[in-house]
Amino acid sequence: MAARIIDGTEIAGRIRREIADGIRLLSQEAAITPGLAVVLVGDNPASRSYVRNKNKAAHEIGIYSEQHTLAQSATEAELLELVGRLNKDPKIHGILVQLPLPSQISEQKVINAITPEKDVDGFHPVSLGRIMTGEPGFRPCTPFGIQKLLTYSGVSIGGSHVVVVGRSNIVGKPIANMLMQKGEDADATVTICHSRTRDLPSITRQADILIAAIGRPEFVTADMVREGAVVIDVGINRIDDPTHPKGQRMVGDVKFDEVSRKAGAITPVPGGVGPMTITMLLYNTLQSARAAAERSRTGGACP
Ligand code: NAP
Repeated sequence: MAARIIDGTEIAGRIRREIADGIRLLSQEAAITPGLAVVLVGDNPASRSYVRNKNKAAHEIGIYSEQHTLAQSATEAELLELVGRLNKDPKIHGILVQLPLPSQISEQKVINAITPEKDVDGFHPVSLGRIMTGEPGFRPCTPFGIQKLLTYSGVSIGGSHVVVVGRSNIVGKPIANMLMQKGEDADATVTICHSRTRDLPSITRQADILIAAIGRPEFVTADMVREGAVVIDVGINRIDDPTHPKGQRMVGDVKFDEVSRKAGAITPVPGGVGPMTITMLLYNTLQSARAAAERSRTGGACP
């Protein structure tokens, strides 16, 4: 039987309506408009397009957004100086530095320089540490989007065996940690796999929920998936396709045609995890503005 499609575009739309309501309420109650600063360094076409989409989405939902663009040759000191200014700017509640950065700049140094109070991308070690300890904090947008996709589409996470293929700091490690925490939207038993995992298919076949964050086109095939499993495809890969008008098309890390005949539910690419990532950035920016409003109400006494 064909798998149920988990429609990321539809779920992202629902969450964006909730965020828009939250923004209106914050403006009425605290006269605050959430503010997002997006920083682009250099002229990587993919990064330019991501930054444009983030600014556009912020603007459309009622978030104040500004873009800062530095040259490809910008120094680490210049970028750190800009981050320092944005950290202090009261109209900015979220700072996002688009990765990757040119090789002369240390990404970790720049991430570490963003104040954790404005770390809406959720990559700062303080935010990642809060996931580990189960404290509230900013969750990285793609893993957060995956968690919301599961809960909004009625997939029960508690007690399930989740297998995550991929151990990157931006997807694999945080989603594994988030889903193994105690509590609502979590309580899973989690296995993390990577390129050195022995007999990967024997492990992926044990998954009730299989999350593929590998970066290899159509890597997960039907023989790697248990009948009825929920499959979340994080991958974004472009492959050559002469039949396509652009000569290329986008595919995920999962071989959709065959896996969708075996899985119980599956996210498509595009239209699955992708639309959720920007949505959770907007969500985090609203959360940050709410926290700032609360701090100013209580004279800085709130966490
Ligand atoms: P990454 O940093 O390159 O990590 C890939 C992971 O996959 C690594 O842990 C690697 O293992 C593992 N891997 C590679 N080959 C493998 C193999 N043959 N068997 C098992 N594991 C293997 O990638 P990422 O940043 O996490 O991104 C993963 C994918 O998600 C990419 O396609 C990316 O474009 C996409 N993505 C999408 C969104 C979105 O918004 N939808 C956001 C972020 C990323 P090792 O650690 O051993 O090398």
